[in-house]
Amino acid sequence: MRLKTWRTVLELNDRKSKLTDTDRIKKITEFIEDLSSKKCYIKPSKEKECSCLSSLHGDVAAQNAISSYIFYWAQKTPFEQQMVLMEKINGVLLAEQLTKKKIISSRQKGGSRPFVVPYFGTNVEETDKKLNSIFICRESLCALYHFGGCKFAHLVRHAKKKTKPVHGNVGKMNVITRNHRENVVPLLQDFFRKAVLPYSGPRPTLFTHNFFTKSVEITPSDGIQELDPRYTKSRLYASFAWDHGWLVKYDPKSQGWDNPLLS
Ligand SMILES: [Zn+2]
Repeated sequence: MRLKTWRTVLELNDRKSKLTDTDRIKKITEFIEDLSSKKCYIKPSKEKECSCLSSLHGDVAAQNAISSYIFYWAQKTPFEQQMVLMEKINGVLLAEQLTKKKIISSRQKGGSRPFVVPYFGTNVEETDKKLNSIFICRESLCALYHFGGCKFAHLVRHAKKKTKPVHGNVGKMNVITRNHRENVVPLLQDFFRKAVLPYSGPRPTLFTHNFFTKSVEITPSDGIQELDPRYTKSRLYASFAWDHGWLVKYDPKSQGWDNPLLS
C-alpha cells in the first residue's frame, strides 16, 4: 500500500476542504503517535530491528513540534520539498565522506539512524533538548514525510551525482499539445474573431447578431430577442470542430463538447 502524500491527506489542494490548519496538524500528530508505537518498517509487512521514534510515544508536545514542521513542508511545491530532503541527504553524504563509512545505505542490522527528526523549536527547553537528540532511520524519515522509499532512493542517487531531480519533460511539449498549438490554435483564433466575438456581450440579441453579421434576420413573431441555444459558446465550438471534420463528442459529465482532436 502506497502512502498518499501529505498534500492529498491534508486536502491542501481541495478548496472545498473543511479541514482547518489545526485539524491538519492534529492528523499528522495522530499519525506520529501511531508510528511511534510500532517498529520501523520498509513496508508494514516488513518490519526492521529499529524503533527510533518510540521515545515520541505519548509525548504530545514533541509530536506537535514535528507535525508543525511537516505541515510547513507539505505546503511547499514538490520541487521545494525534494530540495529540503536533498539537503538532509547531502549532510549525511558529507558525514560519510568524513568518516569513510557507509551511513545512508548501511548494511548493519537494523540500519543506521543518520537523520535528525524534523521539528520546529518549541521554546520549551526540555522538549527541544529531547527532539534534538532523536536520530532516525531513513524509513522513519520517509514515513514522517509520506515520501516513497523509491523516490527517496532516487534523491540519494541525485545527491551523490550532485544533480537536481528535474523531471525530464519539463519545458517539453507532448505530441497532442504541439499538434493543437500548431494546427488548431490559429484556426481557433480566426473562429473566435469571426464567429464568437459577434455574439459577445451581456445579452446578445438578434439585433447584435444582424449588426455584426451584416444580415437582416427578422425578429421572430413571438418577439423573442435572445439568441437561441445553438449560439452558446460550447455549441459554437462544437460546430467549429464539426466544420473542420473533427471528432465531436458530447461529454454528459461536464455537459459540454469535448475538445476536438485532429482525426
Ligand atoms: Zn527506525
